[in-house]
Amino acid sequence: MDAKTGRLAFDRMAYLDAVLQTMPDAVAIIDSDHRLVELNPAGLAMVGVSSLDDIPDRSLVAPESLSAFQKHFLETISGNGEVAAPVRIEINNLAGVRRIVECRMARLENLDGGVAGVVMIARDISAGVERERRLSDDESLIHAILDTVPDAMVVIDDAGLITSFSKAAERLFGYLEEKVLGCNVSLLMPSPSREAHEGYLRRYLQTGEKRIIGIGRVVEGQRSDGTVFPMELSVGEAHAGDHRAFTGFIRDLTERVEAEAQLHRVQSDLAHASRLSAVGTLASALAHELNQPLTAVANYVSAGRDMLGDDGDDIEGTREMLREALDEAAGEAVRAGQIVRRLRNFVTKGEVDRQNLSLGSLINDATTLGLVGARENGVQWWIDIDPGIGNVLADRVQIQQVMFNLMRNAVEAMEKSPDKHLTIRARSSGEDQVEISVSDTGPGIAPEVQQTLFQPFTSTKGQGMGLGLSICRTIIEGHGGRLSMEAGDNGGTVFKFTLMRASRGIDDAV
Ligand code: ADP
Repeated sequence: MDAKTGRLAFDRMAYLDAVLQTMPDAVAIIDSDHRLVELNPAGLAMVGVSSLDDIPDRSLVAPESLSAFQKHFLETISGNGEVAAPVRIEINNLAGVRRIVECRMARLENLDGGVAGVVMIARDISAGVERERRLSDDESLIHAILDTVPDAMVVIDDAGLITSFSKAAERLFGYLEEKVLGCNVSLLMPSPSREAHEGYLRRYLQTGEKRIIGIGRVVEGQRSDGTVFPMELSVGEAHAGDHRAFTGFIRDLTERVEAEAQLHRVQSDLAHASRLSAVGTLASALAHELNQPLTAVANYVSAGRDMLGDDGDDIEGTREMLREALDEAAGEAVRAGQIVRRLRNFVTKGEVDRQNLSLGSLINDATTLGLVGARENGVQWWIDIDPGIGNVLADRVQIQQVMFNLMRNAVEAMEKSPDKHLTIRARSSGEDQVEISVSDTGPGIAPEVQQTLFQPFTSTKGQGMGLGLSICRTIIEGHGGRLSMEAGDNGGTVFKFTLMRASRGIDDAV
Protein backbone atom coordinates (compact mmCIF):
# COMPACT_ATOMS: atom_id res chain seq x y z
CA MET A 1 0.00 0.00 0.00
CA ASP A 2 1.10 3.52 -0.64
CA ALA A 3 1.17 5.12 2.80
CA LYS A 4 0.25 8.57 1.49
CA THR A 5 -2.63 7.77 -0.87
CA GLY A 6 -3.82 4.55 0.76
CA ARG A 7 -4.02 3.07 -2.76
CA LEU A 8 -2.55 -0.23 -3.83
CA ALA A 9 0.92 0.47 -5.19
CA PHE A 10 1.65 -1.49 -8.42
CA ASP A 11 3.66 -1.47 -11.61
CA ARG A 12 1.38 0.06 -14.24
CA MET A 13 3.19 -1.61 -17.13
CA ALA A 14 2.84 -5.00 -15.46
CA TYR A 15 -0.82 -4.23 -14.95
CA LEU A 16 -1.32 -3.37 -18.61
CA ASP A 17 0.46 -6.50 -19.63
CA ALA A 18 -1.73 -8.64 -17.35
CA VAL A 19 -4.86 -7.06 -18.86
CA LEU A 20 -3.65 -7.73 -22.40
CA GLN A 21 -2.72 -11.31 -21.58
CA THR A 22 -6.06 -12.18 -20.02
CA MET A 23 -8.48 -10.16 -22.11
CA PRO A 24 -10.86 -12.33 -24.18
CA ASP A 25 -10.97 -9.70 -26.96
CA ALA A 26 -8.12 -9.28 -29.43
CA VAL A 27 -6.01 -6.16 -28.82
CA ALA A 28 -3.73 -5.08 -31.64
CA ILE A 29 -1.45 -2.17 -32.31
CA ILE A 30 -1.34 -1.28 -35.96
CA ASP A 31 1.19 1.16 -37.37
CA SER A 32 0.45 3.84 -39.92
CA ASP A 33 1.33 1.37 -42.75
CA HIS A 34 -1.49 -0.92 -41.54
CA ARG A 35 1.02 -3.45 -40.25
CA LEU A 36 0.45 -5.32 -37.04
CA VAL A 37 3.00 -4.42 -34.43
CA GLU A 38 1.49 -6.03 -31.35
CA LEU A 39 -1.21 -8.68 -30.84
CA ASN A 40 -2.31 -10.13 -27.52
CA PRO A 41 -2.87 -13.92 -26.99
CA ALA A 42 -6.63 -13.67 -27.67
CA GLY A 43 -5.76 -11.96 -30.99
CA LEU A 44 -3.22 -14.64 -31.91
CA ALA A 45 -5.81 -17.35 -31.12
CA MET A 46 -8.40 -15.57 -33.21
CA VAL A 47 -6.10 -15.56 -36.23
CA GLY A 48 -4.96 -19.12 -35.48
CA VAL A 49 -1.20 -18.47 -35.04
CA SER A 50 1.20 -18.63 -32.12
CA SER A 51 3.38 -15.65 -33.08
CA LEU A 52 2.98 -12.38 -34.89
CA ASP A 53 5.64 -13.44 -37.41
CA ASP A 54 3.40 -16.27 -38.64
CA ILE A 55 0.97 -13.74 -40.06
CA PRO A 56 1.77 -13.07 -43.72
CA ASP A 57 2.45 -9.37 -44.38
CA ARG A 58 1.46 -8.70 -40.80
CA SER A 59 -1.96 -7.94 -42.15
CA LEU A 60 -5.07 -9.14 -40.37
CA VAL A 61 -7.85 -7.89 -42.53
CA ALA A 62 -9.54 -10.09 -45.14
CA PRO A 63 -9.54 -8.58 -48.66
CA GLU A 64 -13.34 -8.06 -48.71
CA SER A 65 -13.17 -5.92 -45.57
CA LEU A 66 -10.09 -3.95 -46.54
CA SER A 67 -11.81 -0.77 -47.70
CA ALA A 68 -14.08 -0.59 -44.62
CA PHE A 69 -11.06 -1.12 -42.41
CA GLN A 70 -8.95 1.52 -44.16
CA LYS A 71 -11.74 4.08 -44.00
CA HIS A 72 -12.16 3.51 -40.28
CA PHE A 73 -8.40 3.54 -39.78
CA LEU A 74 -8.05 6.89 -41.57
CA GLU A 75 -10.96 8.41 -39.67
CA THR A 76 -9.37 7.30 -36.39
CA ILE A 77 -5.94 8.68 -37.24
CA SER A 78 -7.22 11.99 -38.51
CA GLY A 79 -9.99 12.37 -35.93
CA ASN A 80 -10.03 14.22 -32.70
CA GLY A 81 -8.82 11.27 -30.66
CA GLU A 82 -12.26 10.00 -29.72
CA VAL A 83 -13.06 6.32 -30.13
CA ALA A 84 -15.15 5.98 -33.27
CA ALA A 85 -18.27 3.80 -33.47
CA PRO A 86 -17.38 0.12 -33.92
CA VAL A 87 -17.08 -1.34 -37.39
CA ARG A 88 -17.70 -4.89 -38.45
CA ILE A 89 -14.93 -6.50 -40.49
CA GLU A 90 -13.80 -9.94 -41.50
CA ILE A 91 -10.33 -11.11 -40.60
CA ASN A 92 -7.99 -13.66 -42.13
CA ASN A 93 -8.01 -16.77 -40.04
CA LEU A 94 -5.12 -18.87 -41.18
CA ALA A 95 -6.97 -22.12 -40.47
CA GLY A 96 -9.48 -20.97 -43.12
CA VAL A 97 -12.32 -20.33 -40.64
CA ARG A 98 -14.33 -17.21 -41.31
CA ARG A 99 -14.11 -14.81 -38.35
CA ILE A 100 -16.20 -11.72 -38.11
CA VAL A 101 -15.14 -9.14 -35.57
CA GLU A 102 -16.53 -5.93 -34.33
CA CYS A 103 -13.64 -3.56 -33.82
CA ARG A 104 -13.14 -0.31 -32.06
CA MET A 105 -10.10 1.83 -32.82
CA ALA A 106 -8.34 4.59 -30.96
CA ARG A 107 -5.46 6.75 -32.15
CA LEU A 108 -2.11 5.95 -30.65
CA GLU A 109 0.34 8.80 -30.37
CA ASN A 110 4.09 8.48 -30.02
CA LEU A 111 6.10 10.22 -27.35
CA ASP A 112 6.54 13.45 -29.33
CA GLY A 113 2.79 13.76 -30.05
CA GLY A 114 2.90 12.34 -33.58
CA VAL A 115 0.62 9.54 -34.77
CA ALA A 116 2.12 6.12 -34.15
CA GLY A 117 -0.86 4.14 -35.39
CA VAL A 118 -4.01 2.81 -33.79
CA VAL A 119 -4.98 0.49 -31.00
CA MET A 120 -7.67 -1.86 -32.18
CA ILE A 121 -9.85 -3.96 -29.90
CA ALA A 122 -11.64 -6.67 -31.85
CA ARG A 123 -14.42 -8.83 -30.47
CA ASP A 124 -15.22 -12.07 -32.25
CA ILE A 125 -18.93 -11.97 -33.11
CA SER A 126 -18.84 -14.79 -35.69
CA ALA A 127 -21.13 -17.06 -33.68
CA GLY A 128 -23.77 -14.36 -33.26
CA VAL A 129 -23.57 -13.34 -36.91
CA GLU A 130 -23.87 -16.95 -37.98
CA ARG A 131 -26.89 -17.41 -35.73
CA GLU A 132 -28.45 -14.25 -37.15
CA ARG A 133 -27.72 -15.40 -40.67
CA ARG A 134 -29.28 -18.80 -40.03
CA LEU A 135 -32.32 -17.19 -38.48
CA SER A 136 -32.74 -14.86 -41.39
CA ASP A 137 -32.11 -17.73 -43.82
CA ASP A 138 -34.75 -19.75 -41.99
CA GLU A 139 -37.05 -16.80 -42.06
CA SER A 140 -36.60 -16.23 -45.76
CA LEU A 141 -37.00 -19.95 -46.35
CA ILE A 142 -40.24 -19.94 -44.39
CA HIS A 143 -41.39 -16.89 -46.31
CA ALA A 144 -40.46 -18.51 -49.60
CA ILE A 145 -42.36 -21.65 -48.66
CA LEU A 146 -45.36 -19.71 -47.44
CA ASP A 147 -45.39 -17.63 -50.60
CA THR A 148 -45.47 -20.72 -52.77
CA VAL A 149 -47.87 -22.92 -50.76
CA PRO A 150 -51.21 -22.69 -52.53
CA ASP A 151 -53.05 -22.52 -49.20
CA ALA A 152 -53.36 -19.16 -47.58
CA MET A 153 -51.76 -18.73 -44.17
CA VAL A 154 -52.61 -16.23 -41.49
CA VAL A 155 -50.76 -16.00 -38.18
CA ILE A 156 -52.29 -14.25 -35.21
CA ASP A 157 -51.07 -13.54 -31.70
CA ASP A 158 -52.97 -14.36 -28.54
CA ALA A 159 -54.92 -11.12 -28.79
CA GLY A 160 -56.23 -12.21 -32.19
CA LEU A 161 -54.13 -9.62 -34.08
CA ILE A 162 -52.67 -10.60 -37.44
CA THR A 163 -48.88 -10.90 -37.40
CA SER A 164 -48.33 -12.55 -40.78
CA PHE A 165 -50.39 -12.81 -43.95
CA SER A 166 -49.10 -14.94 -46.82
CA LYS A 167 -49.21 -14.07 -50.52
CA ALA A 168 -51.97 -16.65 -51.08
CA ALA A 169 -53.91 -15.05 -48.21
CA GLU A 170 -53.55 -11.69 -49.97
CA ARG A 171 -54.96 -13.20 -53.16
CA LEU A 172 -57.75 -15.06 -51.38
CA PHE A 173 -59.01 -12.28 -49.14
CA GLY A 174 -58.11 -9.34 -51.37
CA TYR A 175 -56.10 -7.48 -48.70
CA LEU A 176 -52.40 -6.59 -48.83
CA GLU A 177 -50.34 -7.83 -45.90
CA GLU A 178 -49.39 -4.32 -44.81
CA LYS A 179 -53.06 -3.36 -44.61
CA VAL A 180 -54.05 -6.19 -42.27
CA LEU A 181 -50.98 -6.54 -40.05
CA GLY A 182 -52.06 -5.63 -36.53
CA CYS A 183 -55.77 -5.89 -37.38
CA ASN A 184 -58.02 -8.33 -35.59
CA VAL A 185 -58.42 -11.56 -37.55
CA SER A 186 -62.20 -11.28 -37.23
CA LEU A 187 -61.87 -8.87 -40.18
CA LEU A 188 -61.66 -11.98 -42.36
CA MET A 189 -64.89 -13.49 -41.04
CA PRO A 190 -68.53 -12.72 -41.74
CA SER A 191 -71.05 -12.23 -38.94
CA PRO A 192 -71.81 -13.93 -36.56
CA SER A 193 -68.32 -15.48 -36.35
CA ARG A 194 -66.84 -11.99 -36.55
CA GLU A 195 -68.43 -10.95 -33.26
CA ALA A 196 -67.98 -14.32 -31.61
CA HIS A 197 -64.32 -14.93 -32.41
CA GLU A 198 -62.87 -12.92 -29.57
CA GLY A 199 -64.96 -14.92 -27.10
CA TYR A 200 -63.74 -18.22 -28.61
CA LEU A 201 -60.12 -17.11 -28.31
CA ARG A 202 -60.58 -15.89 -24.75
CA ARG A 203 -62.32 -19.10 -23.75
CA TYR A 204 -59.47 -21.14 -25.19
CA LEU A 205 -56.82 -19.06 -23.43
CA GLN A 206 -58.70 -19.43 -20.15
CA THR A 207 -59.74 -23.07 -20.33
CA GLY A 208 -57.24 -24.63 -22.77
CA GLU A 209 -60.20 -26.48 -24.27
CA LYS A 210 -59.49 -27.06 -27.96
CA ARG A 211 -62.46 -26.70 -30.27
CA ILE A 212 -60.67 -25.97 -33.50
CA ILE A 213 -56.91 -26.18 -32.84
CA GLY A 214 -55.48 -29.28 -34.46
CA ILE A 215 -58.80 -29.99 -36.15
CA GLY A 216 -59.68 -28.97 -39.70
CA ARG A 217 -63.05 -27.35 -40.01
CA VAL A 218 -65.17 -25.89 -42.77
CA VAL A 219 -66.06 -22.29 -41.97
CA GLU A 220 -66.93 -19.12 -43.86
CA GLY A 221 -64.49 -16.39 -44.81
CA GLN A 222 -65.18 -12.85 -45.99
CA ARG A 223 -63.19 -11.09 -48.68
CA SER A 224 -62.35 -7.40 -48.70
CA ASP A 225 -65.23 -6.84 -51.16
CA GLY A 226 -67.64 -8.34 -48.62
CA THR A 227 -68.27 -11.61 -50.46
CA VAL A 228 -68.52 -14.68 -48.25
CA PHE A 229 -67.01 -18.01 -49.29
CA PRO A 230 -66.62 -21.50 -47.80
CA MET A 231 -63.15 -22.40 -46.62
CA GLU A 232 -61.41 -25.20 -44.81
CA LEU A 233 -59.45 -23.91 -41.85
CA SER A 234 -56.75 -25.81 -39.95
CA VAL A 235 -55.42 -24.04 -36.90
CA GLY A 236 -52.13 -24.78 -35.16
CA GLU A 237 -50.56 -23.28 -32.08
CA ALA A 238 -46.91 -22.34 -31.61
CA HIS A 239 -45.06 -21.22 -28.51
CA ALA A 240 -41.88 -19.17 -28.67
CA GLY A 241 -40.68 -18.06 -25.27
CA ASP A 242 -43.63 -16.42 -23.61
CA HIS A 243 -45.21 -15.61 -26.97
CA ARG A 244 -48.02 -17.65 -28.32
CA ALA A 245 -49.03 -17.66 -31.98
CA PHE A 246 -51.87 -19.32 -33.82
CA THR A 247 -51.36 -20.32 -37.42
CA GLY A 248 -54.32 -20.75 -39.69
CA PHE A 249 -54.04 -22.57 -43.01
CA ILE A 250 -56.94 -21.82 -45.28
CA ARG A 251 -58.14 -23.65 -48.35
CA ASP A 252 -60.76 -22.07 -50.55
CA LEU A 253 -63.64 -24.50 -51.00
CA THR A 254 -65.73 -22.37 -53.35
CA GLU A 255 -65.09 -24.52 -56.38
CA ARG A 256 -65.39 -27.77 -54.50
CA VAL A 257 -68.67 -26.78 -52.92
CA GLU A 258 -70.03 -25.66 -56.30
CA ALA A 259 -68.93 -28.90 -57.95
CA GLU A 260 -70.48 -30.89 -55.12
CA ALA A 261 -73.74 -28.98 -55.44
CA GLN A 262 -73.74 -29.62 -59.18
CA LEU A 263 -73.05 -33.32 -58.65
CA HIS A 264 -75.73 -33.40 -56.02
CA ARG A 265 -78.24 -31.91 -58.46
CA VAL A 266 -77.32 -34.41 -61.16
CA GLN A 267 -77.56 -37.29 -58.72
CA SER A 268 -80.84 -36.14 -57.36
CA ASP A 269 -82.24 -35.79 -60.91
CA LEU A 270 -80.99 -39.25 -61.76
CA ALA A 271 -82.45 -40.74 -58.61
CA HIS A 272 -85.74 -39.08 -59.40
CA ALA A 273 -85.74 -40.35 -62.99
CA SER A 274 -84.94 -43.80 -61.69
CA ARG A 275 -87.88 -43.68 -59.25
CA LEU A 276 -90.22 -42.61 -62.02
CA SER A 277 -89.07 -45.39 -64.26
CA ALA A 278 -89.30 -47.95 -61.44
CA VAL A 279 -92.86 -46.92 -60.71
CA GLY A 280 -93.61 -46.94 -64.44
CA THR A 281 -92.64 -50.60 -64.68
CA LEU A 282 -94.79 -51.27 -61.64
CA ALA A 283 -97.86 -49.65 -63.19
CA SER A 284 -99.90 -52.79 -63.77
CA ALA A 285 -99.00 -54.30 -60.41
CA LEU A 286 -99.90 -51.00 -58.78
CA ALA A 287 -103.22 -50.86 -60.57
CA HIS A 288 -103.91 -54.30 -59.23
CA GLU A 289 -102.80 -53.35 -55.73
CA LEU A 290 -105.17 -50.39 -55.75
CA ASN A 291 -107.97 -52.31 -57.37
CA GLN A 292 -108.22 -54.69 -54.44
CA PRO A 293 -109.21 -52.21 -51.75
CA LEU A 294 -111.38 -50.27 -54.20
CA THR A 295 -113.27 -53.42 -55.13
CA ALA A 296 -113.63 -54.25 -51.47
CA VAL A 297 -115.01 -50.76 -50.79
CA ALA A 298 -117.48 -51.14 -53.61
CA ASN A 299 -118.59 -54.54 -52.29
CA TYR A 300 -119.04 -53.37 -48.70
CA VAL A 301 -120.93 -50.29 -49.78
CA SER A 302 -123.30 -52.14 -52.06
CA ALA A 303 -123.89 -54.79 -49.37
CA GLY A 304 -124.74 -51.93 -47.01
CA ARG A 305 -127.17 -50.45 -49.49
CA ASP A 306 -128.91 -53.85 -49.80
CA MET A 307 -129.17 -54.03 -46.03
CA LEU A 308 -130.95 -50.68 -45.98
CA GLY A 309 -133.70 -52.12 -48.15
CA ASP A 310 -134.13 -55.03 -45.77
CA ASP A 311 -137.38 -54.48 -43.76
CA GLY A 312 -136.84 -57.39 -41.35
CA ASP A 313 -137.66 -57.26 -37.64
CA ASP A 314 -134.09 -57.25 -36.41
CA ILE A 315 -133.34 -53.59 -36.97
CA GLU A 316 -130.61 -53.57 -34.35
CA GLY A 317 -128.86 -56.57 -35.99
CA THR A 318 -129.06 -54.92 -39.43
CA ARG A 319 -127.68 -51.69 -38.03
CA GLU A 320 -124.76 -53.58 -36.46
CA MET A 321 -123.96 -55.35 -39.75
CA LEU A 322 -124.23 -52.07 -41.61
CA ARG A 323 -121.73 -50.44 -39.22
CA GLU A 324 -119.27 -53.32 -39.71
CA ALA A 325 -119.58 -53.10 -43.49
CA LEU A 326 -118.95 -49.37 -43.43
CA ASP A 327 -115.99 -49.83 -41.06
CA GLU A 328 -114.47 -52.33 -43.44
CA ALA A 329 -115.13 -50.02 -46.39
CA ALA A 330 -113.49 -47.12 -44.56
CA GLY A 331 -110.45 -49.31 -43.67
CA GLU A 332 -110.03 -50.39 -47.29
CA ALA A 333 -110.39 -46.82 -48.53
CA VAL A 334 -107.67 -45.74 -46.07
CA ARG A 335 -105.41 -48.53 -47.37
CA ALA A 336 -105.93 -47.42 -50.97
CA GLY A 337 -105.30 -43.83 -49.90
CA GLN A 338 -102.03 -44.83 -48.20
CA ILE A 339 -100.76 -46.53 -51.31
CA VAL A 340 -101.59 -43.50 -53.41
CA ARG A 341 -99.98 -41.13 -50.90
CA ARG A 342 -96.78 -43.17 -50.64
CA LEU A 343 -96.67 -43.42 -54.39
CA ARG A 344 -97.06 -39.69 -54.72
CA ASN A 345 -94.36 -38.98 -52.15
CA PHE A 346 -92.10 -41.48 -53.78
CA VAL A 347 -92.26 -39.91 -57.23
CA THR A 348 -92.12 -36.28 -56.13
CA LYS A 349 -88.91 -34.48 -56.78
CA GLY A 350 -87.99 -32.74 -53.57
CA GLU A 351 -84.85 -31.34 -52.04
CA VAL A 352 -82.79 -33.86 -50.13
CA ASP A 353 -84.01 -33.45 -46.60
CA ARG A 354 -82.41 -35.43 -43.81
CA GLN A 355 -84.58 -35.91 -40.77
CA ASN A 356 -84.73 -37.80 -37.56
CA LEU A 357 -86.91 -40.76 -38.64
CA SER A 358 -88.19 -43.92 -37.02
CA LEU A 359 -86.45 -46.75 -38.86
CA GLY A 360 -89.40 -49.08 -38.25
CA SER A 361 -91.88 -46.82 -40.00
CA LEU A 362 -89.36 -46.07 -42.76
CA ILE A 363 -89.02 -49.79 -43.52
CA ASN A 364 -92.76 -50.41 -43.31
CA ASP A 365 -93.47 -47.57 -45.72
CA ALA A 366 -90.83 -48.82 -48.15
CA THR A 367 -92.22 -52.34 -48.19
CA THR A 368 -95.72 -51.08 -49.13
CA LEU A 369 -94.40 -50.09 -52.55
CA GLY A 370 -91.44 -52.46 -52.81
CA LEU A 371 -93.59 -55.52 -52.36
CA VAL A 372 -96.43 -54.50 -54.66
CA GLY A 373 -97.42 -57.60 -56.62
CA ALA A 374 -95.00 -59.81 -54.68
CA ARG A 375 -97.72 -61.89 -53.05
CA GLU A 376 -99.29 -62.70 -56.43
CA ASN A 377 -95.88 -63.96 -57.53
CA GLY A 378 -95.74 -66.38 -54.60
CA VAL A 379 -93.18 -64.44 -52.58
CA GLN A 380 -93.33 -64.76 -48.80
CA TRP A 381 -91.65 -62.12 -46.71
CA TRP A 382 -90.55 -61.45 -43.15
CA ILE A 383 -89.79 -58.13 -41.66
CA ASP A 384 -87.61 -58.43 -38.57
CA ILE A 385 -86.81 -55.13 -36.90
CA ASP A 386 -84.89 -55.01 -33.63
CA PRO A 387 -87.47 -53.48 -31.23
CA GLY A 388 -85.01 -51.02 -29.72
CA ILE A 389 -83.63 -49.90 -33.06
CA GLY A 390 -84.73 -46.28 -32.64
CA ASN A 391 -84.29 -43.49 -35.14
CA VAL A 392 -81.97 -42.75 -38.02
CA LEU A 393 -80.86 -39.56 -39.69
CA ALA A 394 -82.06 -39.97 -43.27
CA ASP A 395 -83.90 -38.62 -46.25
CA ARG A 396 -87.14 -40.60 -46.25
CA VAL A 397 -87.68 -40.79 -50.00
CA GLN A 398 -84.06 -41.65 -50.79
CA ILE A 399 -83.87 -44.49 -48.28
CA GLN A 400 -87.21 -45.80 -49.47
CA GLN A 401 -85.77 -45.74 -52.97
CA VAL A 402 -82.82 -47.86 -51.86
CA MET A 403 -85.08 -50.39 -50.15
CA PHE A 404 -87.44 -50.35 -53.09
CA ASN A 405 -84.60 -51.15 -55.52
CA LEU A 406 -83.20 -53.91 -53.32
CA MET A 407 -86.63 -55.49 -52.81
CA ARG A 408 -87.59 -55.28 -56.49
CA ASN A 409 -84.27 -56.83 -57.51
CA ALA A 410 -84.82 -59.62 -54.96
CA VAL A 411 -88.39 -60.27 -56.12
CA GLU A 412 -87.29 -60.31 -59.77
CA ALA A 413 -84.31 -62.57 -59.01
CA MET A 414 -86.61 -65.14 -57.33
CA GLU A 415 -89.00 -65.30 -60.26
CA LYS A 416 -87.95 -68.83 -61.20
CA SER A 417 -86.87 -70.01 -57.74
CA PRO A 418 -88.90 -72.79 -56.11
CA ASP A 419 -88.64 -71.06 -52.72
CA LYS A 420 -89.35 -67.37 -52.75
CA HIS A 421 -88.42 -66.01 -49.34
CA LEU A 422 -87.54 -62.43 -48.72
CA THR A 423 -86.26 -61.23 -45.35
CA ILE A 424 -85.78 -57.63 -44.33
CA ARG A 425 -83.84 -57.22 -41.13
CA ALA A 426 -82.71 -54.19 -39.11
CA ARG A 427 -80.11 -54.48 -36.37
CA SER A 428 -77.80 -52.20 -34.42
CA SER A 429 -74.29 -52.01 -35.77
CA GLY A 430 -71.85 -50.56 -33.32
CA GLU A 431 -72.76 -47.59 -31.19
CA ASP A 432 -73.77 -45.13 -33.81
CA GLN A 433 -75.02 -47.12 -36.77
CA VAL A 434 -77.80 -49.47 -37.79
CA GLU A 435 -77.61 -52.15 -40.45
CA ILE A 436 -80.49 -53.07 -42.72
CA SER A 437 -80.31 -56.23 -44.80
CA VAL A 438 -82.45 -57.56 -47.64
CA SER A 439 -81.96 -61.30 -48.23
CA ASP A 440 -83.51 -63.48 -50.90
CA THR A 441 -83.52 -67.11 -51.96
CA GLY A 442 -82.79 -66.35 -55.60
CA PRO A 443 -79.98 -67.79 -57.73
CA GLY A 444 -77.25 -65.46 -56.38
CA ILE A 445 -75.05 -63.20 -58.47
CA ALA A 446 -72.40 -64.53 -60.85
CA PRO A 447 -68.82 -63.52 -59.87
CA GLU A 448 -68.27 -61.60 -63.13
CA VAL A 449 -71.40 -59.52 -62.48
CA GLN A 450 -70.34 -58.96 -58.86
CA GLN A 451 -67.17 -57.20 -59.94
CA THR A 452 -69.02 -54.30 -61.51
CA LEU A 453 -72.26 -54.72 -59.61
CA PHE A 454 -72.36 -51.16 -58.24
CA GLN A 455 -71.19 -49.51 -61.43
CA PRO A 456 -73.73 -47.91 -63.74
CA PHE A 457 -75.08 -49.95 -66.65
CA THR A 458 -74.34 -53.33 -65.10
CA SER A 459 -77.46 -55.34 -65.81
CA THR A 460 -78.37 -58.90 -66.71
CA LYS A 461 -81.97 -57.99 -67.42
CA GLY A 462 -83.37 -57.54 -70.92
CA GLN A 463 -85.07 -54.26 -69.92
CA GLY A 464 -82.65 -53.31 -67.14
CA MET A 465 -80.81 -50.02 -67.15
CA GLY A 466 -78.29 -51.20 -64.56
CA LEU A 467 -78.54 -47.93 -62.67
CA GLY A 468 -80.43 -49.06 -59.57
CA LEU A 469 -77.52 -50.32 -57.45
CA SER A 470 -75.16 -47.49 -58.41
CA ILE A 471 -77.81 -44.96 -57.36
CA CYS A 472 -78.38 -46.92 -54.13
CA ARG A 473 -74.69 -46.83 -53.28
CA THR A 474 -74.47 -43.08 -53.99
CA ILE A 475 -77.46 -42.47 -51.74
CA ILE A 476 -76.13 -44.61 -48.89
CA GLU A 477 -72.64 -43.14 -49.06
CA GLY A 478 -74.20 -39.68 -49.16
CA HIS A 479 -75.80 -40.63 -45.83
CA GLY A 480 -72.41 -41.61 -44.39
CA GLY A 481 -73.16 -45.34 -44.64
CA ARG A 482 -72.00 -48.32 -46.71
CA LEU A 483 -73.85 -50.60 -49.12
CA SER A 484 -72.45 -54.07 -49.77
CA MET A 485 -73.50 -57.41 -51.17
CA GLU A 486 -72.67 -60.91 -50.01
CA ALA A 487 -73.80 -64.42 -50.90
CA GLY A 488 -76.61 -65.73 -48.70
CA ASP A 489 -76.26 -69.00 -46.71
CA ASN A 490 -78.86 -70.69 -48.88
CA GLY A 491 -77.45 -69.65 -52.25
CA GLY A 492 -79.41 -66.44 -52.49
CA THR A 493 -78.14 -62.89 -52.12
CA VAL A 494 -77.92 -60.50 -49.18
CA PHE A 495 -77.62 -56.73 -49.64
CA LYS A 496 -76.69 -54.79 -46.52
CA PHE A 497 -76.50 -51.10 -45.84
CA THR A 498 -75.79 -48.98 -42.83
CA LEU A 499 -77.26 -45.69 -41.66
CA MET A 500 -76.28 -43.28 -38.92
CA ARG A 501 -78.32 -43.24 -35.75
CA ALA A 502 -80.14 -39.96 -35.32
CA SER A 503 -78.34 -38.90 -32.14
CA ARG A 504 -75.11 -38.47 -34.08
CA GLY A 505 -74.03 -35.63 -36.30
CA ILE A 506 -75.06 -32.67 -34.20
CA ASP A 507 -72.02 -30.50 -34.06
CA ASP A 508 -72.00 -27.57 -31.72
CA ALA A 509 -68.28 -27.08 -31.63
CA VAL A 510 -66.75 -23.91 -32.97
P1 ADP B 1 -81.06 -53.34 -63.08
O1 ADP B 1 -82.02 -53.86 -62.06
O2 ADP B 1 -81.59 -52.28 -63.95
O3 ADP B 1 -80.39 -54.44 -63.86
P2 ADP B 1 -79.38 -52.84 -60.81
O4 ADP B 1 -78.19 -51.93 -60.66
O5 ADP B 1 -80.46 -52.66 -59.80
O6 ADP B 1 -79.88 -52.62 -62.26
O7 ADP B 1 -78.88 -54.33 -60.75
C1 ADP B 1 -77.76 -54.73 -61.51
C2 ADP B 1 -77.73 -56.23 -61.70
O8 ADP B 1 -77.41 -56.84 -60.45
C3 ADP B 1 -79.03 -56.86 -62.10
O9 ADP B 1 -79.20 -56.81 -63.51
C4 ADP B 1 -78.85 -58.29 -61.61
O10 ADP B 1 -78.10 -59.04 -62.54
C5 ADP B 1 -77.99 -58.14 -60.39
N1 ADP B 1 -78.76 -58.24 -59.14
C6 ADP B 1 -79.15 -57.21 -58.34
N2 ADP B 1 -79.80 -57.69 -57.25
C7 ADP B 1 -79.81 -59.03 -57.35
C8 ADP B 1 -80.34 -60.10 -56.52
N3 ADP B 1 -80.97 -59.85 -55.37
N4 ADP B 1 -80.15 -61.39 -56.97
C9 ADP B 1 -79.50 -61.62 -58.11
N5 ADP B 1 -79.01 -60.67 -58.92
C10 ADP B 1 -79.15 -59.40 -58.56
